[in-house]
Amino acid sequence: MGASAAYHLMQRGVAARNIVLLEKENFFGQGATGRCAGGVRYQFSTEINIKLSLASLPMLERFKEELGQDVSYRQCGYLLVATNEKDANKFKHNVELQNKLGVSTQLLSGDEVRARLPLMRFDDAMAGTFNQKDGVVDPNSVVMGYIAAAQRMGVQNFSGTEVIGVNLRGDQVEGVQTTAGAIKTRMILNAAGPWSSQIGKMAGVQLPVIPLRRQMFTTSPLKEIRDDFPFVIDFAQSLYFHREGEGLLIGMSNQNEQPGFDQSVDKDFELANLEAAINRMPLVEKAQRSSHWAGLYEVTPDAHPIFGGTTVNGFYVCTGFSGHGFMHGPISGKLMSEYILDGKFTSVDVSMLDLKRFEEGRLIQEYNVV
Ligand SMILES: Cc1cc2nc3c(=O)[nH]c(=O)nc-3n(C[C@H](O)[C@H](O)[C@H](O)COP(=O)(O)OP(=O)(O)OC[C@H]3O[C@@H](n4cnc5c(N)ncnc54)[C@H](O)[C@@H]3O)c2cc1C
Repeated sequence: MGASAAYHLMQRGVAARNIVLLEKENFFGQGATGRCAGGVRYQFSTEINIKLSLASLPMLERFKEELGQDVSYRQCGYLLVATNEKDANKFKHNVELQNKLGVSTQLLSGDEVRARLPLMRFDDAMAGTFNQKDGVVDPNSVVMGYIAAAQRMGVQNFSGTEVIGVNLRGDQVEGVQTTAGAIKTRMILNAAGPWSSQIGKMAGVQLPVIPLRRQMFTTSPLKEIRDDFPFVIDFAQSLYFHREGEGLLIGMSNQNEQPGFDQSVDKDFELANLEAAINRMPLVEKAQRSSHWAGLYEVTPDAHPIFGGTTVNGFYVCTGFSGHGFMHGPISGKLMSEYILDGKFTSVDVSMLDLKRFEEGRLIQEYNVV
């Protein structure tokens, strides 16, 4: 979010010397973005998330043309599978909403799901949804594309520089303190993802963003997995599979995970994930684990992001994407550049996703959270 916002502020003509991008790790993109599954989809259950995808995914399609960086966009499609009546009914409603907004997702019967996934065991599938334009993009290429472009244009990018304080005068931002010294500024964009509530606290702004660990693993090559194998989600189990190299990337959300900043792999849960994966796709038993890692979702109470200003003048936020923010990074950075420069969102109206909605009880629940 930070790299995209810096790039889009420059695109709008903000002088490069006026933008500084700060990253506590030694390299950019080591937070949630670098640890994510790279999935990009139009298949959401709320109008606003679908609209964000309609704006953001074409930006990823045009990325190389615009920024000169290949991001390996592979439109393998997402196939979501419902195995209970509640999800099957919700899927039907979601497809109607997506079709109404111009997304050509198809509703599939249980038999159609089984026919499309001959390598998987989905005897209990009741329905499915498929959209060919969903797919996978390489997260690190997107981060580096924005960082390199902003840098070429003169933005100062400081990695290995942690924000440790925010200076205020009354309710106005006056500066930021970092491990490398202080910077005077009247404007801060808090795009610290899972850590954003910590930065909020430094400015006296409470953000309802909770870090929640999620993990995944990749397998050795499996020759049975064809190039066109879709991004499959067993919705009730939050269990997913997509082709990664010549093998698979497999993940599952631990519904009992407690909030926290631990990014080590939970070995017990990994076994549970593996067992669930083998039950769905017996051929996984033949594979070796190639790699595994964990990262943090940045979760809000309604699984929607927070965009805009706060009670502190000059303190802006763009965070809380709740596990599906990578795909919305391009448009989100653009939207923040619009809000900071024009005081309003133009490309997509996300004004309802303000921080005040939590106090005012205007929550909009997203169902398609994995
Ligand atoms: C396992 C996993 C799988 C996911 N899969 C998908 C997916 O398939 N598709 C999708 O769209 N989304 C996915 N997501 C969600 C997605 O990764 C996030 O929504 C998105 O990357 C958030 O981007 P961000 O820029 O807000 O946060 P980040 O990428 O975390 O960036 C915030 C940066 O701020 C830095 N920072 C924090 N504190 C400080 C400080 N004090 N000073 C300086 N710097 C600081 C961090 O080091 C970090 O680099 C997944 C997330 C995880 C964890």
